[in-house]
Parts: sequence; structure tokens; C-alpha cells
Amino acid sequence: MSRVVMAGMPAAGHVNPSLPVVRALVDHGVQVIYYTAEEFRGPVERAGARFHPYPAGTISAADIAEATRSGSPLRVVTRILTATESLLPFLLAELRAERPDAVAFDSNAVWGRMAATGARLPGISLMTTMMVGSRELRSMTIREGLHFARAAVPDVPAVRAAKRRVVRRFGEELFPPRPTFPIRGEVTIFPIPRWMQPPNPLVDERCHFVGPTLDTEARDEELDSELAAHLDAPEPLVLVSLGTLHAGADEFFRTCFEVLADLPARVLLSVGSHPGPARLGRPPANTLVRASVPQLQVLRRTAVFVTHGGMNSVLEGLVNGVPLVVLPQQFEQLVIGRAVADRGAAVVLRHNLSNRPVPPAALRAAVEQALTDPAHRTSARALAATLSADGGAAAGAAAICELLGRSS
Ligand code: UDP
Repeated sequence: MSRVVMAGMPAAGHVNPSLPVVRALVDHGVQVIYYTAEEFRGPVERAGARFHPYPAGTISAADIAEATRSGSPLRVVTRILTATESLLPFLLAELRAERPDAVAFDSNAVWGRMAATGARLPGISLMTTMMVGSRELRSMTIREGLHFARAAVPDVPAVRAAKRRVVRRFGEELFPPRPTFPIRGEVTIFPIPRWMQPPNPLVDERCHFVGPTLDTEARDEELDSELAAHLDAPEPLVLVSLGTLHAGADEFFRTCFEVLADLPARVLLSVGSHPGPARLGRPPANTLVRASVPQLQVLRRTAVFVTHGGMNSVLEGLVNGVPLVVLPQQFEQLVIGRAVADRGAAVVLRHNLSNRPVPPAALRAAVEQALTDPAHRTSARALAATLSADGGAAAGAAAICELLGRSS
């Protein structure tokens, strides 16, 4: 029996797309030992893997959300490099004990790639999104570029120092080759359709675009009566979520209260890592506010999805044929939103990327258009019909099994 160690990133948007691949590997008779933060034990075990927690205090979903909320992409990288200092020796010791045939790693988990190299094992990268190249970056407006630079530049010394510490301690030869992120492997699985990836010189025959890897039923939950009644009401449902990492400003959620209140629709607001939904005040009669919702289940009943454009959320919406209003919180989400808008299934409002609030009238108009213009739903349904064509999790597992066969 082959054995694979998986070094995960503890964040829903990273764990969720990996688990169907894990399940498919287990179905192929591969033993998977999945390392991530304790909070993901349940879903990892339900996917059929042996769960192993990262040592407490090394990295958690809250750490990643906190770094993301800072608005600086380099803060997340610094956090990852700091975690690598403790997780790499930990993982190398685990590899000596477990003796796997390969190491799979999340494409942000530097410690996973370094452990594979250090143990001279084949590395399998599990991507969560597409690669963003210089061509896409050039489409940033000056205002967006300035906002990005203002957030990132103060973190340059910290990220450099963190990298120096890792390289000094473990050696340059273990560090992933440039560009470091996303980290690629001998096999790299992209759980996205090929059309989401703009042309990029790093795409080669080791990259497998398998399409969304969704295990819908595995994520279904028992709904409480208030949420169930909200979903069962006859009016169309508008789901609003900025994902699990971005907090969203009070002003944004209050704008949703204000401009969506008189639509002939129900509104469900998932406020994610927003620190205090109570301070938003009383929602209008058609709106329910939750810290988190069982998103795949909710999307099956959703008419319009107002999303930050995270890759998982976008694909989960499209698989269900739901038109999108995309409010990117970081640049990559703009690229994702535009790819869907080009295919007629999304409207993109990019104001937040230059630190401006989305104008209430623009939000209202975009949601209304997506609700009432049937062309959006037709385009979303047309995309939905194509999304399983590349094989999903089963195709990802097949590519990994081929690597395991080659390396044994
Ligand atoms: N999610 C969820 N409930 C929520 C918000 C998000 O189940 O209330 C899930 C969502 O289905 C997706 C993941 O969390 O699988 C978020 O990933 P995405 O890439 O969209 O965004 P991120 O949170 O990483 O920015």
C-alpha cells in the first residue's frame, strides 16, 4: 500500500478542495496521513485520512485570517515562513517515523515542500487557485497599485528577515525555487478549470487542471430551524460572503442591509472573520446574519451570490449555476472575477482594491441585474455544465497515483 503524507494549510479555502482528492486517493487504496491544525480534524477524518495535528501554537486558521486582515500579502508570507521554522523539523521527524512514498503539500506550505526535498521524496503540490503572472499584474490601476504597495512595503524587512532565518537554519538548497509562491511539485494538481489559468510560463506537463474538486454531500450539515426557514421561503435568495479570511468593513455590511432590504428577495449574510456582527445593528426583515453558513448547501438554493471572488466560492457558485457579483478583496480575486465576467456569469465591482467602499447604488444595481436578467443565470448554468469535464478529484488522484507508481 502506498502512503502519502499531506502537509496542509489550516484554512477552509485550502482544506476544502484538498479533501475530495484525499478521499479519492483513499478509494484507490493509498494511505493518507494529513497534517494540519486540530480544528480540521473532523473533516479530515471523514475524508478517510489519518489525522495528525500540527503542534499547538505553530499555525492556525485564526493566524492566517489575522495576517490576511492586515491587508498586506507579505504578512501572510511572513507568518508562513515563521511557521516553517518549527514545522519543518517537526515534519522531517514525522517523515522518518512514517516513511511515506511521497509528500503532498498545500501550495503555500513551504515546510511541506522543504520536507519533501530534505527527505528526498517526490513532492505533490495541491493548488487552491491559479497562478498570477506579470501580465495580469500590469492590469492593476495606479490607485490599486499604490494601495497594494502601501500595505505591502512596510512588511518587506520582516519577510526578508524571516526568509533569511529559514535559509540560514536549513540551507538554501531546501528552499523552494523562485518564484516561491505558489509552490509547485513533481506533480501539481489545480482544482480549477483550465480556462481560469491565464497563460503562464510556469504551466507545464506536470500541472494537472482537473476542475473543481467538490464533495458536496460530505459538507452538508443539519440546518437550524431559522436558517432552514430562510432557505425555504419562496423569494429568491441572495447570499453575501467575503469568505473566511477577509473581515469586511462594518460599512459594507450596513450597505448590504440598506440596499438589499427592499429587493423582492431574502438575503443571507455570512460575515466570516468580521469581529463583531452584533455591532452591525438590527438587520432588515428580509436579512439573516450568520458568522458562517454551510455554503455548498446554501448555494443549491441561491439565486445570486455576492462574493469576494475566492476561487472556492466562485467555483462552488458556478457548479450550482449561480450568477455572481464579485467584490475582490485582493488582486487574484479580480483576475478570477474577470474570467467569469468574460463568460457572462459575473459582474465585478473592484472598488475595494483601491481602498474605496463599493458605492451602494452600484451594489444594488449589480445584484438587481443578476437577479432579473436571465442571461446571467443562463451563462452560469452553461459554465456549470462544463465544470466536471476534467475529472475533478478522481483525475487529481489518478495523476498522483501515476507519480506513486513511477517513484516506487
Ligand atoms: N465557507 C463556508 N461557509 C461560509 C464561508 C465560507 O463553508 O460561511 C467555505 C466556502 O464554501 C469555501 C471556503 O469556505 O469552500 C472559502 O474559500 P474561498 O477560496 O472562497 O475563500 P477564502 O476564505 O479562502 O478567502
